[in-house]
Amino acid sequence: MIYLDAAATAPVREDVLQTIAPLLTRDFGNPSSSHGAGETAARALDYARRTAAGVLGCRPGEIVFTSGGTEADNLAVKGWALAAPRGRHLVSSAVEHPAVLESLDFLRRVHGFRVTLVPVDAEGRADPEAFRAAVTAETTLCTLMYANNEVGTVQPVAEVGEHCRALGVPFHTDAVQAAGWLPLDVGALGVDAMSISGHKLGAPKGSGLLYVRGSLPLEPLLHGGGQERGRRSGTENVAGAVALAVALARGEAERSEAAERIGRYRDHLVRRVLAEVPEAVLTGHPEQRLPGHASFCFPGTSGESVLLELERAGVQCSSGSACAAGRDEPSPVLTAMGYGPDVAGTAVRFSFPRSVTEAEAALAASVVGPAVARVRGLAPRA
Ligand code: PLP
Repeated sequence: MIYLDAAATAPVREDVLQTIAPLLTRDFGNPSSSHGAGETAARALDYARRTAAGVLGCRPGEIVFTSGGTEADNLAVKGWALAAPRGRHLVSSAVEHPAVLESLDFLRRVHGFRVTLVPVDAEGRADPEAFRAAVTAETTLCTLMYANNEVGTVQPVAEVGEHCRALGVPFHTDAVQAAGWLPLDVGALGVDAMSISGHKLGAPKGSGLLYVRGSLPLEPLLHGGGQERGRRSGTENVAGAVALAVALARGEAERSEAAERIGRYRDHLVRRVLAEVPEAVLTGHPEQRLPGHASFCFPGTSGESVLLELERAGVQCSSGSACAAGRDEPSPVLTAMGYGPDVAGTAVRFSFPRSVTEAEAALAASVVGPAVARVRGLAPRA
């Protein structure tokens, strides 16, 4: 089976596994304990914090380890809005992950915030000028994802960051899909907060972090023992934090090579699919997209049927986002990009893990056209 659903989750890297094994067994201490076992764990956590900070170009104290991308997004959006309202207005885009959109909606429903969702164009990009225009004197936070999970479009984060800085409004980005593929230097991106998830990068599920600029106040979501400088209580997932940090650092070291190599495999798949399936539509931006990401609509099919055919042919991918799988409504992301429900319901996403080989990628590219044709009834099932 060829796994092309890395945007949903990726396998744990072998080098990460080797690094964390002792932290789960021999060096299992609680970093808050004052004996030797605790100190060993505290040192490991400190190493993780310094390593992650090195990749992001921030101070170690600006990293808050979380249970993943969802918690990091919730902490950024709710933690910030509740701690520091300049006013009760929040600005974001129409294509954010539910972890952001539902947090915004919670603030609207329960705390009376007003939310402006900036629209996107047909390729899924938000206009930085529209972000600037949406900000008012009451705006407490802007948040725009770095790259979209469903269509792979990369957003103009640095431009929006520049506007936000000029306007004095804090700016958060959800970099869950971008991490490992795009530069993460928070200074160059002009972001005040950034969410990252471990399991997209080769660390285990349940690990993540939020970078949050030192001077920014944050109301914690989890209250308790005051870990993570009071910003996130709960005994730290030491192995998860170390795994995430190592995966981030290794991912960054390999980033250019991986983006170039996987980008080639992806381009081959896109060319082949568009040549063999004349009605196929490549969704998302043709160039400003994640290197390992290809998403299509196949009008006249159903996305789920194409997925089944592809799995029969030995390729696992997804209909859009893992979170939306099984839901009947058309994708809000594709809807925001202007696709009608008939077309949006035919979405199929291929997202390449770094571990994929050229031969696997080529094989996968060769089975898509025939699978779509079988679903359309144009060719007998093999
Ligand atoms: N943000 C984006 C863009 C994502 O793609 C995901 C997961 O798919 C998340 C946030 C949530 O991350 P996690 O699965 O670590 O909670």
